[in-house]
Amino acid sequence: MSEKISVIIPVYNERENLEILASTLTGVLDSTGGDYELIFIDDGSLDGSGDFLASLAGERPRLKLVQFRRNFGQTAAMAAGFDYATGDIVIAIDADNQNDPSDIPAVLSKLHEGYDVVSCWRKDRKDPWLTRRMPSAVANRLISLISGVPLHDYGCTLKGYRRELFDHFRLYGEMHRLIPIHAAWVGARVVEIPVKHHPRTRGTSKYGLSRTFKVLLDLITVKLMGSFSTKPMYLFGGAGLLSCLAGVFFAGWTLLDKFIGGVKANRNPLLLLAVFLFLLGIQFILMGLVAELLVRTYYESQGKTPYVVRRTWNCPNREKAGKNGHSG
Ligand code: UDP
Ligand code: MG
Repeated sequence: MSEKISVIIPVYNERENLEILASTLTGVLDSTGGDYELIFIDDGSLDGSGDFLASLAGERPRLKLVQFRRNFGQTAAMAAGFDYATGDIVIAIDADNQNDPSDIPAVLSKLHEGYDVVSCWRKDRKDPWLTRRMPSAVANRLISLISGVPLHDYGCTLKGYRRELFDHFRLYGEMHRLIPIHAAWVGARVVEIPVKHHPRTRGTSKYGLSRTFKVLLDLITVKLMGSFSTKPMYLFGGAGLLSCLAGVFFAGWTLLDKFIGGVKANRNPLLLLAVFLFLLGIQFILMGLVAELLVRTYYESQGKTPYVVRRTWNCPNREKAGKNGHSG
């Protein structure tokens, strides 16, 4: 129970919510009795949220504030939170009091049970049905299906993580929602618990329907990167070979038409299809080659490894891995 907890809170124009939030969060975390920090990320707020948080930070050393130059979006804010967090456990929560800090102890106890990611499910969600709950239900189904990580509610910001997970990936776009998927793919144990949800009573929601599409596009990127980033040739080359084969098939068909059916090849539209598919196939294969080269440059220039170490013994030179690993 002695692990330090970092709570990260993305804030964009939430001035009216901050006072209540800071006091409920402090209350809940004080009651856990452990070490903790609150990291507020002011994502370019224009309503005085930043000044208010700065004054709180002046009085309370456990409250940290990271201020952005402009609005970079919730994912960027959360990425900064993970970067600045010094705790062993990171809990993310919205600043609008729709999540309830009283659910945090339940998240912590799941992490202490040994899970690496605890995702929360707003079982009784208090948002408009047509623009928020319905599209999100469809998206959640799709994401579960495509990713193979079945959760009811990717969109809930309230989640708990072991911080060492973030050594293995970066966040872009709307991807903070998809962290459980990244995590599951690098071998993390992911669990979901139902939590309370409240209607927004102060400030306004920052999102509408368009976010659902962004999340789905991000999912495609994540899926392709996850499955193919080390072997893009399997993806592009596979598609290229299929396309070439189809081209050869239709070329054969054209020949059959010519010699058996008596159709002149230059009058047969299948010839065009054959040529088109074959060229497309070649293009795909070349693209795969280029992607392959890019991926290698990417990994090698940044000193990244395309594999993930869970645990090491007697490896003090890999301090990070050694520190996070369990002795035994
Ligand atoms: N937020 C942010 N940057 C943005 C948009 C939102 O930091 O560009 C924060 C916002 O202040 C809130 C959280 O992200 O703490 C979730 O936003 P919101 O409550 O509007 O989303 P919803 O709950 O409606 O999905
Ligand atoms: Mg909200």
